[in-house]
Amino acid sequence: MQLIDGKSLAKKVQTTVASEVEQLKQEKNIVPGLAVILIGDDPASHSYVKMKAKACENVGFYSITHNMPDTISQDEIIATIEMMNDNPRIDGILVQLPLPKHVDTDKILEVIDPQKDVDGFHAYNVGRLVSGLDSFVACTPLGVMKMFEAYKIDLEGKDVCVVGASNIVGKPMAALLLNANATVTITHIFTKDLKAHTSKADIVVVGVGVPGLIKEDMIKDGAIVIDIGINRIKDGSLVGDVDFENVSPKCSYITPVPGGVGPMTIAMLLSNTLKAAKGRV
Ligand code: NAD
Repeated sequence: MQLIDGKSLAKKVQTTVASEVEQLKQEKNIVPGLAVILIGDDPASHSYVKMKAKACENVGFYSITHNMPDTISQDEIIATIEMMNDNPRIDGILVQLPLPKHVDTDKILEVIDPQKDVDGFHAYNVGRLVSGLDSFVACTPLGVMKMFEAYKIDLEGKDVCVVGASNIVGKPMAALLLNANATVTITHIFTKDLKAHTSKADIVVVGVGVPGLIKEDMIKDGAIVIDIGINRIKDGSLVGDVDFENVSPKCSYITPVPGGVGPMTIAMLLSNTLKAAKGRV
């Protein structure tokens, strides 16, 4: 069994981004800029935004965070996004999810300029992804694809089971895998027999938010398991969706939690923002 080390891979990506930022500054006087919109007091969202801001600082980006109370109106959020759409120093706009219940998330995401949609959630970018065209791709699934690439894991013709079908994880993950010529099965909460699908797969990619959902008897010998789940359990520690202790001995490759997909998500945010800055006209 080999661990896929997301932490060190993410560091390599950050080093590359930092040197490209330096080059962009020197050659074109461009400093990539990221605006984060954070609404409410959710501690997890605050901690993610803090990590993202720190990562931006480390690679030399300009970054700003619009921190708003959860009583803010939808129109005010839209006005802030429109301001960022028009701000020439801002290349990427990220709205930290989840949003408060009175806000229509789909509507908010549609307001972001698709050229600044570094989270890849805008329907324009999702459509382009599904069509196999160049687009901004959601950071978490993009990070998983970088892991496959770095570890030279060939996807063509492989049976891949994606567990979880959200717009931000499972669906873009499945589209990327399909674009890489894998045979993809997408499973979710209504799937009748999850084990029947996971146990046949060469590669299982899980992102559901249920600690220990994937057990030893659900994975075939030699399978590759990618655990996207991040769950805080009672003792305060972070675990994934895979019963790592019992599943890992059966795998050829597996990602740990923490230190697997999580750091890659932030690295891909940096890489998407750099891409947006390079596309400045
Ligand atoms: P979500 O709640 O929007 O979607 C969950 C998906 O899992 C749904 O499609 C649902 O049908 C499916 N599901 C739920 N219970 C299931 C079960 N018992 N069996 C099969 N399918 C089931 O969640 P999300 O935003 O997609 O996040 C999923 C997980 O990924 C969470 O743990 C989240 O913290 C994590 N996540 C991690 C990163 C990262 O950077 N590593 C980024 C985003 C999300």
